[in-house]
Amino acid sequence: METVEKSFDVIIVGAGTGGTTAARFTAKKGLNVCLIDRKPRGDIGDKICGDAVGNEIFDMLKINHPRNEELSCYIKGAKLYSPNHKKCITLLDPKQAGYIVNRLEFGQRLLNEALDAGVKQFLDKTMVLDLLYKNGTVNGIQVKLNNGEKVKLNAKIVIDASGFYSPLRKKVKSTLIEKNILKEDSILCYREIVKFSPSDQEVQDPEYITIILDQEKAPGGYIWYFPKNESSLNIGIGTFMDYQGKVKDLYKTNVYHEFIKTSNVDILSSGGGVVPVRRPLWSCADNGFMLIGDAACQVNPLHGGGIDPSMRAGYHAANSAVHALENNDYSIDELWDYNYNVMTSFGAEFASLDLLRIVLQSLSNEDLNFGLERDLLSGEEILEISSKGGLNLSIVNMAVKAIKGISHPNLLLDLNYLRIRMNEISKLYKNFPKNFDQFSDWKEKVVEIYDKINRMIIKTKKSK
Ligand SMILES: Cc1cc2nc3c(=O)[nH]c(=O)nc-3n(C[C@H](O)[C@H](O)[C@H](O)COP(=O)(O)OP(=O)(O)OC[C@H]3O[C@@H](n4cnc5c(N)ncnc54)[C@H](O)[C@@H]3O)c2cc1C
Repeated sequence: METVEKSFDVIIVGAGTGGTTAARFTAKKGLNVCLIDRKPRGDIGDKICGDAVGNEIFDMLKINHPRNEELSCYIKGAKLYSPNHKKCITLLDPKQAGYIVNRLEFGQRLLNEALDAGVKQFLDKTMVLDLLYKNGTVNGIQVKLNNGEKVKLNAKIVIDASGFYSPLRKKVKSTLIEKNILKEDSILCYREIVKFSPSDQEVQDPEYITIILDQEKAPGGYIWYFPKNESSLNIGIGTFMDYQGKVKDLYKTNVYHEFIKTSNVDILSSGGGVVPVRRPLWSCADNGFMLIGDAACQVNPLHGGGIDPSMRAGYHAANSAVHALENNDYSIDELWDYNYNVMTSFGAEFASLDLLRIVLQSLSNEDLNFGLERDLLSGEEILEISSKGGLNLSIVNMAVKAIKGISHPNLLLDLNYLRIRMNEISKLYKNFPKNFDQFSDWKEKVVEIYDKINRMIIKTKKSK
């Protein structure tokens, strides 16, 4: 084993999509960077995932779009089905179009580009165990190396990109960062990549990702059917974390047997995982410390897409680390601009979509069928909500909806109340305090909005 250096400007824990992006942009600016992952180098990127990623992030970061062996297929848009399959909303937006990737090849490319950008030390097969503190500020980590030796590594800044089960978030000493993620804010998933002969079965809608809402077949989540190429699919299911059964059984009955019509199949990959589906952590930074990606709950609460936001967060965290080093200040006050950049951009969108997610999870199949069939939310509106995290309806539009929703007045009223709260929270996030000292007032206002939505759900349930 090569000699392990022990002191860095920045240590990044986790070489997934978030960590490799943070590593690339910190190393590119000449910082002395250490990147660590518990997996062997050749397995980095191999993750149980739906494998879908939009175009936009590659343009934003000015990095190569997926191509060659990384690219499974191009996607034009999404098709969203009501539970009874009678309504299909096609979501077509050039900004939402993108790719289905080969996750391993994609991850390997991101890793190689980060290392080429000048990462000083890359430690694979290395388990990160704990945070080190000096005078209330994170100043390093404890790791177990490949040879079993436990060592301390020091850094001015530690970036945690270790995913949903982050071992470090639980070790943070201040109360600013939540240590545990509530079960109701996470989705349990199971998926397979299934290959068959094109002569036995055709891939439906090969240019679209298909999502089916169904509270009975996928309680609290959805079923997905994503093409990979003319003879393989990535199909899966997401459900509430406290689902009282095996998610794999749910998948077999409601997804596999539903979509796979031939017995001549190869299962190329299978497995489960958990996605956080809530707004980002209250604070994604602390003294000497930043969290990015799943570790910071930076996943789109509506569809569970986390590749794009983890890369955005990696970029923002890298910029904040560079400024902090220039100013020789690693305090939360200095790193607050990372929070500011996250919350005022995709954080605003995710907070708003989180409210929508909470309400959608409380609806019955009957409500979903009714709302989607009557266009109480149209395709354009869903796109507007998912790209901006909010929706502005004209009075005419509202009147049309009132007529369409006349037989379900409570649903219409709830959706309108939700729309107002979504716009409110989005505005609040876009006005995220520039300084830490105004944070607690801001937080109270966000909590009030969540309380309002929860009260609305309780009231609606009681009235049924
Ligand atoms: C079933 C499923 C389907 C999904 N589908 C999609 C989709 O289609 N599109 C999309 O955009 N998103 C999807 N997501 C979400 C997406 O996969 C994640 O949001 C994204 O990978 C987050 O990246 P990350 O860098 O934060 O974490 P990860 O990719 O999870 O990377 C974390 C890294 O940290 C390492 N690590 C963890 N603990 C330690 C430790 N103690 N020491 C050292 N290293 C450690 C891990 O080995 C891993 O390499 C899906 C998720 C699931 C579970």
